[in-house]
Amino acid sequence: MPKILDGAAIAEAIKREVAGKVRELALKDIRPGLAAVLVGHVPASEIYVRNKVAACAELGLHSELITPPESVTTDELLKLAAELNCRDEIDGILIQLPLPAHVEAKKLLDAVDPAKDVDGFHPVNSGRLQAGRPALVPCTPGGVIEILDRSGIAIEGRNAVVVGRSDIVGKPVAMLLLNRNATVTICHSKTENLAEITRQAEILVAAIGRPGFITPEMVKPGATLIDVGINRLNTREEFDRFFKGNAKREAAFEKRGSVIVGDIHPAAFELSSAYTPVPGGVGLLTIAMLMANTVKAAKMRRGIA
Ligand code: NAP
Repeated sequence: MPKILDGAAIAEAIKREVAGKVRELALKDIRPGLAAVLVGHVPASEIYVRNKVAACAELGLHSELITPPESVTTDELLKLAAELNCRDEIDGILIQLPLPAHVEAKKLLDAVDPAKDVDGFHPVNSGRLQAGRPALVPCTPGGVIEILDRSGIAIEGRNAVVVGRSDIVGKPVAMLLLNRNATVTICHSKTENLAEITRQAEILVAAIGRPGFITPEMVKPGATLIDVGINRLNTREEFDRFFKGNAKREAAFEKRGSVIVGDIHPAAFELSSAYTPVPGGVGLLTIAMLMANTVKAAKMRRGIA
């Protein structure tokens, strides 16, 4: 039977550790602080940001939610970033994506002080990650490594294949695995003979954004499967393609009118030695890692080990 890598339990363990570090910093009169910038009204973003702010309160971090209107200009947001960069009580700055189309997103993300870039998207931090130097690492990729480490899954010397090369997930995951001495192959939409490559993977990370794209034929028996994908199935036809006859999922679909599936076909999990479920896997690590990054930023900025 494959082992299910439980994202909820690992996220809780990380949060407990973060709360402990926050208490230690309080003895030095330091309270890590996160500023979350949420532009306009995107319902999904509003939920994500609310959860991030709630996690700060739960763990004892200071947080500020800044909500510029949809009509805000790039220049106004650059000014806001500059102000937050200068404020000592703010250790982490989070610009919630997506931004409205008229905002120059890259320019804004590049204006965040790399020392406060808790999303790890700034080119300075990706450069540091690539050079194997201390950096603020993007939250979801950082969470993938935490899952492997805390589940006792060795990385060094293993054949790892990452499908997806986005700046947010695929590339940083690959770099983190490489820095931990895995032998890493990165695949993308132009990769030829993809199944042949994924079948070599002892650790297979899927970050594609296509429901159930990795099928059982693409998986080496006994591999560890890390599914980063989050895809919503809204129609009965889509649902049946993955979960026909699955009573638990059926009940969820009837109740909500949709269910979530990852980038790995559920049937492929059966071949693995261990896998992250969707939901309940990697996705649950992101907020815990954001909290960990904010505390890390607070310590790094003050030269505390
Ligand atoms: P993305 O920016 O759209 O990147 C998708 C990657 O998949 C690209 O590199 C693309 O290749 C590759 N790809 C697309 N079709 C392919 C194919 N047929 N064969 C091989 N590779 C293919 O997506 P992302 O932001 O990395 O997100 C990936 C998934 O992770 C999504 O489901 C997203 O919702 C999820 N996600 C989850 C979390 C979380 O758990 N908190 C966080 C972020 C993202 P090209 O580069 O060649 O186009």
